[in-house]
Amino acid sequence: MAAPFVDTAKITVRSGNGGNGVVSFHREKYVAAGGPDGGDGGRGGNVVVTVDDHMSTLMDFRYKRKYTAANGTDGGGKRCTGRNGADLVLRVPRGTIIRDAATQEIIHDMSDDAPFILCRGGRGGWGNQHFATPTRQVPRFAKAGYPGESREVVLELKLLADVGLVGFPNVGKSTLLSVVSRAQPKIANYHFTTLFPNLGVVYVEEGISFVMADIPGIIEGAADGAGLGHDFLRHIDRCRLLIHVVDVSGSEGRDPVEDFEAINAELKQYSPELASRKMIVAANKTDIMANPALLDKFRAHVDGLGLELFEISAAAHQGTRELVKKAAQELAQLPPVAVYEPTYVERPPEVDTSGEVSIEKYDDTWVVEASWLQHLMANVNFGDYESRNWFDRKLRESGLFDRLEAMGIQDGDIVSLYDLEFEYQR
Ligand code: GDP
Ligand code: MG
Repeated sequence: MAAPFVDTAKITVRSGNGGNGVVSFHREKYVAAGGPDGGDGGRGGNVVVTVDDHMSTLMDFRYKRKYTAANGTDGGGKRCTGRNGADLVLRVPRGTIIRDAATQEIIHDMSDDAPFILCRGGRGGWGNQHFATPTRQVPRFAKAGYPGESREVVLELKLLADVGLVGFPNVGKSTLLSVVSRAQPKIANYHFTTLFPNLGVVYVEEGISFVMADIPGIIEGAADGAGLGHDFLRHIDRCRLLIHVVDVSGSEGRDPVEDFEAINAELKQYSPELASRKMIVAANKTDIMANPALLDKFRAHVDGLGLELFEISAAAHQGTRELVKKAAQELAQLPPVAVYEPTYVERPPEVDTSGEVSIEKYDDTWVVEASWLQHLMANVNFGDYESRNWFDRKLRESGLFDRLEAMGIQDGDIVSLYDLEFEYQR
């Protein structure tokens, strides 16, 4: 059995933690009391997503659902910085949309070649080399690295094609694609032959080409989820032009007008916008006309709708050139393939500030550590006023300053929170 075509997947990704900074002092024979030389932790690896044009499905993500980038390593003495964690690179087919699993908001549309950083690795903690000041020559503390971030996302493949072929199964869509491009889709004389969307580049003339997609046949009731076609309609969401292929030969006892309208009704039910997209009609299998009256009736129907009809025989390569030229002309007038803009809104994370806190005093410096504080700080952009305000509010709410007061902190003492230090003022 052929493997199923997979075009959605839910996965969890996690970037690496930053390594810890260390406490160390310079040591040399005969040199007493060297300065602090504890190095910083390395950065945690990012989770990066890139397009791979050799991939055509999201199959790989069905079997592996958790992806974690490497942690940074701890710093060392002699100002040695820890190694950065390696990025984790996720390869996806072009046209993959990344959504937030909880809200379905679009985080990114993987349509171009630019790699996208989905999760940033945690920053490395600072070694004690950073904490020497004129009044604090022997910093006996260093900082832990920041944790990586974790996200649950849904990947959804929406093919990037200029032209989408629509029509009942067995009408000759795959045959048409194979004739006008170098794609080699499966062609067989039974219904539901196509299980995978196929893409082909159609070369029209010097400098003019376009991408055509053959999706599995839409069947009646597909838009209700009754059949195979439903899941696949998303692949023509982005197409700029539809070519509606209809078997007009009457060889299977079908009525072209009925078939044509049934498919249009499915499109409309799935998306009125999609149904109103520019459409060209390809009347196929004209080489085996069993009843020419069917074609006349169909042509009158299509004319009545103001659409253009091309008589072709995909199998005999008749009329396909004209069809392709017409498609290229239409495309030249149409806007480019849609790229989805992100709808994801960054929200301040829910941080529970009631967790445990460790406070250590070194001379006039109060070193505060808490995992919720790391989490909080990893989400603050200190260059941004609003973000700083949010941080300040959270800190106050947490009761940290009350605790420091109770422990005897004085104005002018230093509060040291990971890579942030400030003078305490009541
Ligand atoms: P799809 O399901 O729409 O992709 O249809 P296929 O391309 O797989 O074709 C279904 C059957 O119709 C195959 O046996 C083809 O060889 C046949 N076929 C396709 N186009 C033509 C045509 O123009 N003339 C004739 N006689 N047969 C055709
Ligand atoms: Mg097919």
